[in-house]
This record gives sequence, structure tokens and C-alpha cells, in this order.
Amino acid sequence: MKKQIFNSEIDMNEYLCSSDENHNVLRVNPSLRLYIKVTDDCNAKCDFCANNLSRDFGSLDFAKLGIVIRYLYDRNLLHGVSITGGEPMLYPDIVNRIINLVYSIDPHIEVQLSTNGINFRRLLDFENINNLESIHLSRHHYDEKVNQRIFHSSKVASDNDIIYVQDHLEDKKIININTLVMKGYIDSLKEIKAMLNYVGRVGVYKNGFVSLMKCNEFSKERFINFNDIFRHLDKDFFLSHHFYSKTYCECIDGVYLTDDAKIVEFYARMVKECNQCESKTMQLVYTTNNRVLNGFSGKEIF
Ligand code: SF4
Repeated sequence: MKKQIFNSEIDMNEYLCSSDENHNVLRVNPSLRLYIKVTDDCNAKCDFCANNLSRDFGSLDFAKLGIVIRYLYDRNLLHGVSITGGEPMLYPDIVNRIINLVYSIDPHIEVQLSTNGINFRRLLDFENINNLESIHLSRHHYDEKVNQRIFHSSKVASDNDIIYVQDHLEDKKIININTLVMKGYIDSLKEIKAMLNYVGRVGVYKNGFVSLMKCNEFSKERFINFNDIFRHLDKDFFLSHHFYSKTYCECIDGVYLTDDAKIVEFYARMVKECNQCESKTMQLVYTTNNRVLNGFSGKEIF
């Protein structure tokens, strides 16, 4: 479906994910997620990072950002806002300001934040922290030292940071822990279970497992097809859904019973090809130098 957005005609993805691999479901109202890049900097140096494919090193113009959000919102094109980077929580005051800006337009807009957990406790200073739809905390191993090795940084959320923030949040379901499935780390059903048991121990309710996007040599070497693991779940897992998008990704979700008899929700998602989604638009990106792109490495439209 083609839509005029700013001065460009955008070919929007009009399909919803479907539980039937061969039949896709048409959306009634195709809409877009706006990714706001707070910064292109990051405290970490992950070997699988795709951030260096699109860096501008600018600084956000809040007046222009407000115009863009309002433009999409007024035309019923805004499905939600994701605050990302680089690492957005290098600048917690800017993140807080963006959240307040979005909610000043409509407090019901779905806002997500992705972070590796630097300055994690600063989240509790945010006026609207309990209104967020989700905070996606990247945590790639249950062992803190191994996790720090994956990030090549010790300045990511520690176990104690996670427990502290989770303890102080009113809405206990905001934090999702996101874990990459990759060879040598979380790479088998046994390791998936160890991760879910860890997530239960730190008091978080949800753990997402994501396959690497094969965007560089490291990711190609460490890639694991999620079906190799998640097709073989045992009695500790209760599977709810298996969804397919038309071309882009495939996912499952359900719940897991931990060793401590806690219930942790899980989901697992595999993106089929790097940037394949960008043939049909699902996302716009607001860059650090105040351009709007059709996807992370797409054409400038404003
Ligand atoms: S935390 Fe994210 S942005 Fe930072 S290096 Fe890792 S993948 Fe890249």
C-alpha cells in the first residue's frame, strides 16, 4: 500500500504477522514505528553491532522531532515510538525529555526504550517511567562476567542494577530482557533454560531470544537458526503462538516454569535476512542529525 509521507511516496507493509505460514493477514490501517536515535555513540563494542552501518553524529532538535511525531500521529500513521541508539542511556536526560515530548502529544502512544543498561538506575528518575510500554534490556548471558565480555564493557546493567530497578518500578512488566542466541553463549536448550532461570531469579517477567542478523562475519559465524532450538522444547515450556511475517521474520512465544517455580514469559524471534524488511516500510528512523529515513539505512524522506 502506497502512502504519501512528507514529500515521498512510501510503500508500506500492509501485512500482519500470521499463525499460518502460507496465509498472510492484511492490516486494516497500516502504520509505522518511529525509531528515534538519541545518539550514535555507545559504551559497548559488541562484535555483532550493526550500528556502524548508519551513524551521523548529530544532536537532536526537539522542535523538529516534535513536528515529525505530530505529523505521523495526526495522520494515524504512528504505531509507536522506539527510543534507540547507539546507546540512548548514555544521555538519560535526553531520553526523559523525548518520553515527555511523546506523551505531551498523547499519553497513550506506545513508547519503548532499548538499552544495554548503562545508567540503568537513572530510569527511576523519569517522570513517566511507569507509562512506558517496555524497556528492552539487552542481556546476553546469565553470568555477569560473560555478559560484560560480550559487550566488551563493564558499564552495562549489573545483576544488582536489574534487581534494584525492578524492585522500584510500579509496573513490574515493563522490563523485558533481550538475549541474543549465538554459538558459544546461549546456544542450546540447556542454555536457554539457564537464562530463563536467571531472569526469574532477578525478578523479571519476560525474556526474549533473538537470532543474530547476518550483517557481518561474526554474526554469520555465530548464527543459530532458532528452529534448531525452539522446535525441541520440553515439558517446562508452554507454547502459545507461532507467528510468521510475509518475508521478514518468524517468532514464537509462551511461558516457562523456572527451577524456583516462577513463571517467565518468553518469546523467540528470527529475522530472516539483514534489512530485508526495508523493501516494504514498517519503520521510519529519526537520525541524530534530524533526518527522517525510510528504515535504518533507507532513503531520506524529510
Ligand atoms: S550495545 Fe548495541 S549499539 Fe552498543 S555496541 Fe552493542 S549492539 Fe552496538
